[in-house]
Amino acid sequence: MAERRVRCTTAFFRTPDVAPRDGGRDQRRPLSLQAVASPGVNGVNRGLLKRLLRAQEDLYRQYREQVGAPVDDADDQKKFKTFCQTKEVIRGQGPRDSGNHRDGSACDIEYLASPWLPIFAPGGGLTGEEHNKSGQWSKDNVWNPCIQVCHRSGLFCLGHTVEPRASADVSYSYDSFKETHDALVKYLSYRYPNGAAGNLTEATEADFIARVKAEKDTALKGSKLSLFDSATSQFAEKDTSAASDDDLKAAFAQIESDRKTMRYGMVIGSLSVAGDKIDETKTNYREPCRGFLMLKKDVVIALKKTGLRWGGQDFRDMMHFDMGFEILNDFLDVPVSVRAAAIVAELSASTDPAAQKIKDAATAIKNAADAAGPAANAASLADNTAKEDACWAVVNSASSTLAKVTAAKVAALKVAKDSRATDEKKQKVLDDADAALSAAKKVEDDAKTASTM
Ligand SMILES: [Zn+2]
Repeated sequence: MAERRVRCTTAFFRTPDVAPRDGGRDQRRPLSLQAVASPGVNGVNRGLLKRLLRAQEDLYRQYREQVGAPVDDADDQKKFKTFCQTKEVIRGQGPRDSGNHRDGSACDIEYLASPWLPIFAPGGGLTGEEHNKSGQWSKDNVWNPCIQVCHRSGLFCLGHTVEPRASADVSYSYDSFKETHDALVKYLSYRYPNGAAGNLTEATEADFIARVKAEKDTALKGSKLSLFDSATSQFAEKDTSAASDDDLKAAFAQIESDRKTMRYGMVIGSLSVAGDKIDETKTNYREPCRGFLMLKKDVVIALKKTGLRWGGQDFRDMMHFDMGFEILNDFLDVPVSVRAAAIVAELSASTDPAAQKIKDAATAIKNAADAAGPAANAASLADNTAKEDACWAVVNSASSTLAKVTAAKVAALKVAKDSRATDEKKQKVLDDADAALSAAKKVEDDAKTASTM
């Protein structure tokens, strides 16, 4: 049975407003997301929007299946948002950012709570965000220490080490990250009971010891401590149930140190390093008590299913989803229109007969691109593939015709400036301008046809 498409109206991934982006490297025309909630956001591009909407429909369908609430439920959107476990607005899309963010083909979901993190790549090697211009320095000073914290978290909460390990299958990657995330959050909560809510009020050492003793056969059954042994300068494991008060005091101190260490693996912006040492006075870190994976598994899977890359899977950036670089042609209409407009402006004052024809040709190209590009976008979102393809075909011929128009312009301007140009040459540029104009008119007509299909 064919799946019924659900066009949901929630604003989880979008607002309906269309915001043309001017400036920026590629002059794309994105649709803005959450524009009101995130001032300065320039939006994602059409291709990404389409995939976000697909993912959103998929999630909405899951939500409806699970909730079974009436369609006219007044709290429908609120409940859907809760189902998706969204907390922050989508951000990171705009020309001010780097990489895929620059052209609107990337977005960050749960920016504050789902950071870059040192993880094991699918091949097995430890990897993370590079600091101090050195992978080795980062590994020694940030990545490995963070992984040790993950290990201690797992030992304490589960009785075995855990670590974030990506695999070829996104579902396994997620589960590995989530197990580590949960262990880390729980581990730190023994010293910072409300840390996940941003309240760093600490438990007292006595409360910690009493709690661990009380839970040693229940919540902490099988738990192990990993304590630093100054005699061997190494960490050694010990069953929590057999720990002395001094061991537990050491474990309490270790949690504080581990929270601090983990912050360096969850930096906002870049890590400050002075003289090869981490600058501990800086505060641009995410809170480790909140963990590193706020995204619900269903959300990650739904986004991956649309063909997006997930940073967590592909390059250890938990919040990041992007399209890779394959969609650039989808936005050809904008540069074509911009270049055609530049020719119109350049030739606006010219009285040369060939230049006037070329100016008219450029105007026709601009009209074609302006009609066919947005029509292709609308057709794409409406799932009208035939119209989408027809409109992109027009944009492509507008682009190739613009090349002819540009060549004719260069030749015409050269001849116009050349006092010794022969009549034969003058006639040639006029003929070429004529040919460019009729080709451009044809494209303009094709654009009208395709965009009203
Ligand atoms: Zn990102």
